[in-house]
Amino acid sequence: MREYSSGCSSGPEAVEIHDTIDSRMKGRNEARVKKVSRKRGRVRAREICDVNANRTLSHRHTSLNTAIGDYGSELNKKREEDKSERTVVSLSPVVDLDGLSQPSRGTRERLEENTEQATVRLEKIRGAVSTILECIGEDPQRDGILNTPTRYAKAMLFFTSGYQQNINDIVNNAIFNEGHNEMVIVKDIDVFSMCEHHMIPFTGKMHIGYIPENKVIGISKLPRIAEMFSRRLQVQERLTRQVADAIMEVLQPRGVAVVVESSHLCMVMRGVEKTTATTITTCTLGCFTRKRTREEFFGLVGVNRTLA
Ligand SMILES: [Zn+2]
Repeated sequence: MREYSSGCSSGPEAVEIHDTIDSRMKGRNEARVKKVSRKRGRVRAREICDVNANRTLSHRHTSLNTAIGDYGSELNKKREEDKSERTVVSLSPVVDLDGLSQPSRGTRERLEENTEQATVRLEKIRGAVSTILECIGEDPQRDGILNTPTRYAKAMLFFTSGYQQNINDIVNNAIFNEGHNEMVIVKDIDVFSMCEHHMIPFTGKMHIGYIPENKVIGISKLPRIAEMFSRRLQVQERLTRQVADAIMEVLQPRGVAVVVESSHLCMVMRGVEKTTATTITTCTLGCFTRKRTREEFFGLVGVNRTLA
C-alpha cells in the first residue's frame, strides 16, 4: 500500500506570510512618512501619511484575511475529502485493480450498468450532441446529420470504453515463470486517447519495456494495458505513468519504462497550431532509473536522439 501525502502549506505558514507582509508594509510606510515630512512640514505630513498607511494596511489586511480564510476552509475541505477517500480506496490510487484508476461515482455506475441503464446513457449523450449541433448553428434535423448524435454517442462510448475494463481481467493470469531476466520491449503500440482538457483526440506511439524478475507477462497483454488506459479521458503524462505503474504492480519486475510520443489535435488544430509538434513523455521505474539501463532502452526504441 502506498501513501500519497499532499504537499500543501499549512495554516501557521499562511499566518507567517501575513505577518511578513504586515511588517514590510509598515516599514515602507514609515519611509514615506519621513520623506514627506521634510517637504511639507512635519506634523501635518505625519497625520496624512498615518491615515493613508492605515487605510492601505487595513485594505491589505481585509483582502489577505479573506484570501487566508478561503484558503484555509478550502484546505480543510480537501483534508476531509482525502480522509474519507482514504478509508474507501484500499489500494494505490494509481492502480486500482478493479479498474477505477480515477474513481468517481460515474465510473462506478458505468462499470456496473445494466442494458436499460446503458440505453438511458446513450439517449442522454444523443440529446447533448443534438444541443451542440444546434448551438454551432446547424440544423439537427438536416438529412446528412440526422443520425450524427447517435453515431457520436456510440463513438464516444467506445473512445472511453477503458472505464469499463480492469487490469485483472486483462492480465487474466497470463504471467509465466520463465526465469528470463533480460530486457523485454514492445514498441510502436498505437495509442488513441482523448485529451481531458478539450475532449479532442491525441494519437501516437507507446513503447513499453521491462526487465523481468523471472516472471514474464503474455506479450499481447502490454498493448491491451496501453489500450485500457488510453481509452479514457487522459493527459499524456498520466497515461504514461499509469501504464508503467500497472505493469509494475501486476508483474513485480525489476523495472519498467514507458515512452509515449504523440500529437495532440487540440494543439495542432487550434490555438498555437503547431502541426508538426510531437509531445514525448517518459516514465521509468525500478532499475530503469539507472542511466545506463534507461539509455539502452531509449536507444532500442529509437528515441535516444531526443532523450539521451
Ligand atoms: Zn487538449
